[in-house]
Amino acid sequence: MKQDQLKDWQPDQFDRFVRILEQDQLNHAYLFSGFFGSLEMAQFLAESLFCTDKVGVLPCEKCRNCKLIEQGEFPDVTLIKPVNQVIKTERIRELVGQFSQAGIESQQQVFIIEQAEKMHPNAANSLLKVIEEPQSEVYIFFLTSDEEKILPTIRSRTQIFHFKKQEEQLILLLEQMGLVKKKATLLAQFSQSRAEAEKLANHAGFWTLVDESEHLLTWLVAKKKKVICRLLN
Ligand SMILES: [Zn+2]
Repeated sequence: MKQDQLKDWQPDQFDRFVRILEQDQLNHAYLFSGFFGSLEMAQFLAESLFCTDKVGVLPCEKCRNCKLIEQGEFPDVTLIKPVNQVIKTERIRELVGQFSQAGIESQQQVFIIEQAEKMHPNAANSLLKVIEEPQSEVYIFFLTSDEEKILPTIRSRTQIFHFKKQEEQLILLLEQMGLVKKKATLLAQFSQSRAEAEKLANHAGFWTLVDESEHLLTWLVAKKKKVICRLLN
């Protein structure tokens, strides 16, 4: 997602971060709650740190660094996701080990942790020390759909930003992708992020499941009494 789109989708958060960048006050740790543009915002901020051809505080989106960050291939911007529903302590410890080393291409490093609520508590705790060493040029973005599941120790040490779902925008986008209004609305309500909606829009299996669920629901309603009686007997 380019910054123009990010600005359209999360105008308040975008403006807030531009002001933060202008005042050179980017914190070392943020908690982004909600998936709607949060990953893109973290990448935008990473680009603003590494871009070699900035326009004011804004990344150019054209230089080598910007392009590599957008593709998820820049060595000093690490994206961490759960494997089998968990972010292992070893993985985080390995990263903490890297903090003390100089960056591969520069002194700065950015870590973006997706579904941060799936971090093992020990993993989360080993990050706390890093967050509390502001002299390090490390920036961590914790991304979550449920901030209540994030350890209080992490929550209290990060600044929280909310990325609410923009349903109307998502319906429009899905219609532009060729979905009829009914399907676009259903998918927009169901999805937690733009990426998920885009992926499911072209997923034949998802729509088969939706059709089957509708049939099942209709059948259940029609046969409600009969089914309940059978279940009770
Ligand atoms: Zn750039």
